[in-house]
Amino acid sequence: MPMPWKDKERQREYQREYQKKYQKEHPEKRREWAKRSRQNLRETDLERYKQQKRQDYLKYRKWYVAYAKKRSAITFHTRRKQLIQKLGAKCNDCGFTEYPEILEIHHLDKNRENNLVNNLVLLCPTCHSLRHRKNLYSPKE
Ligand SMILES: [Zn+2]
Repeated sequence: MPMPWKDKERQREYQREYQKKYQKEHPEKRREWAKRSRQNLRETDLERYKQQKRQDYLKYRKWYVAYAKKRSAITFHTRRKQLIQKLGAKCNDCGFTEYPEILEIHHLDKNRENNLVNNLVLLCPTCHSLRHRKNLYSPKE
């Protein structure tokens, strides 16, 4: 018969009482019950472990999305500064250095999404535009 459980705590309490009583009345069942109880415990542990894993994964994914957003928010100027530090403030093709502030960033693999430093070079506007016109220009390397 179903009982109107007020809360989980009371339910557990009732179950404990019931089990005690039952064990007293049926000592021969005790061993079997203990075995089943161990098994149940293992199953709940497994379930808890899975839940924890899931939570960890969700937490990690949340963190990663935030991290990726932050990363892609690295400004053009920061990237430029990094490139200038690595390659020097000059055009990669013609060596133009007179006005470093007009140097442009060129994606070697033509993929604008790939902003890894080794995919980027600095070019003066002229060389940059030439690089994007294959018919006119073949890169030196
Ligand atoms: Zn140039």
